[in-house]
Amino acid sequence: MAQIIPDGSNGPAHGAGFMTSDAGRPVGDNQNSMTVGPRGPIVGDDFLLFEKMAHFNRERIPERVVHAKGSGAFGTFVCTSDEIQKYTTAALFQVGKQTPLLARFSTVGGEKGSADSERDPRGFSVKFYTEEGNWDMVGNNTPVFFVRDPLKFGDFIHTQKRHPQTNLKDATMMWDFWSLAPESLHQVTILMSDRGTPMGYRFMNGYSSHTFSLVNAQNELFYCKWHFKSAQGIKNFMADEADQMKATDMDYSQRDLFGAIEKGDFPKWNVKVQVMSEADSKTYHINPFDLTKVWPHADYPLIDVGVMELNRNPVNYFAQIEQAAFEPRNVVPGMGFSPDKMLQARLISYPDAHRYRLGGNYQSLPVNAPQCPYATYNRDGTMALGDNGGASPNYEPNSFGGPVQNPRYTERKVNLDNPVMGRWDHREHDGDYYTQAGNLFRMLGPDGQKRLCANIAGSLSTVPERIRTLQISHFEKCDPAYGEGVSKAVDAALGTAGMKAEPVGELVNA
Ligand code: NDP
Repeated sequence: MAQIIPDGSNGPAHGAGFMTSDAGRPVGDNQNSMTVGPRGPIVGDDFLLFEKMAHFNRERIPERVVHAKGSGAFGTFVCTSDEIQKYTTAALFQVGKQTPLLARFSTVGGEKGSADSERDPRGFSVKFYTEEGNWDMVGNNTPVFFVRDPLKFGDFIHTQKRHPQTNLKDATMMWDFWSLAPESLHQVTILMSDRGTPMGYRFMNGYSSHTFSLVNAQNELFYCKWHFKSAQGIKNFMADEADQMKATDMDYSQRDLFGAIEKGDFPKWNVKVQVMSEADSKTYHINPFDLTKVWPHADYPLIDVGVMELNRNPVNYFAQIEQAAFEPRNVVPGMGFSPDKMLQARLISYPDAHRYRLGGNYQSLPVNAPQCPYATYNRDGTMALGDNGGASPNYEPNSFGGPVQNPRYTERKVNLDNPVMGRWDHREHDGDYYTQAGNLFRMLGPDGQKRLCANIAGSLSTVPERIRTLQISHFEKCDPAYGEGVSKAVDAALGTAGMKAEPVGELVNA
């Protein structure tokens, strides 16, 4: 892509404001194709036409398989408390220190052109450009997830996409999977509650959901979960408002975020962390590495860390948001991972997806590159940007003064408890899918519970009875009132269903 410098300094032949081809050749006529006579055919000499058409044909890159529809902005993180220094040496956590960042929010299941107000979890990703490399906090607006073994991730996502035959979103696929994978109950309850349809991205919280680790100056290990609490407060669309918004403004969340920042109303999130000692992680009654569970606040209170503010819109959506590549493996010294199986799969899967979508040099794109000095021996590949390491050595060790390792940053050794390899069945070790989903149900209060049951029934009433019955039996185990509420709401929905057309998904799958 030709970079035209407005003052014309990129080429004496061009002059200020004049157009060129991508190769820099001055363009004399950008209005008329080159033809044989005024009514004649186009000729192969028309370098400009064929370049424009060929580039246009290549404008789309593969959209993300999940989180395709998104919005983002730049901003700053300011550390406001030194308490976290007890747990980590990460350099960004010095009181008053400002770290530039990029945040991207998204829906999950829909395509790039889908509506922003769909009932769906929301992605909540932040790239902190720290002085020790990029820290990517790649989370969601929910503290848990539908599955806890990555082997089931692709199966689950297929149920959120289109039916292989009808090419329609299909409630039967979703409830069939969820009813057979009851570890999903906690996240399903959040999804079907008011928080399933946030009023844009400014009014929702973000969570790492996964458990990560921290290492302090004494080389002690802690586990942690990150929380980003909206300073704007939580605001959600009611189900009918969300449906209405799909018809009124499919891009509501994009418009809301961009517009707020444009007028100087900068959204903020209070960044907090829950911390668990390594010793506790071995004895706590909840598996701390189970992505379907939260750590109750009463046991692990939130510790203040700082404030994230978004204050700068992208100037080019494609370059800065579409090409942004977040990946949970990007942690900085003083941070690490955990045995959470879902996290471990994401450490491999995210860079793999970026290589497919953006190419092997995706980390060199300006929006993804670190803003601190960096020096690797990786070279070449499609679209090697910049000088590709110039004449410096491309192997290590070398005797020509190339960069060397710094033992100070060697990862802390981790003691694994049960080093016996196998396909361990998580259901045998923890079959409690119900307690935390029930806790959430009880916390919602009568009105919230009523809306939750109605939201579930709107979808569950359209699926075959055997699937409905199994799913309602799971809700009953969370709380008898939950089962009864959904059951009654389904009956009410079925009572009025005679007035409606039969849903296509049910006909195909029943
Ligand atoms: P607490 O009473 O200490 O925490 C409840 C938390 O739930 C609140 O602090 C708030 O977290 C969140 N919450 C409040 N209203 C709603 C709502 N309408 N929908 C969803 N979440 C809401 O109890 P526990 O820590 O034992 O958690 C009880 C249940 O709350 C959990 O089973 C879980 O479903 C949910 N929850 C728990 C979180 C945690 O990290 N412990 C985080 C979020 C939800 P926030 O300010 O983060 O929204």
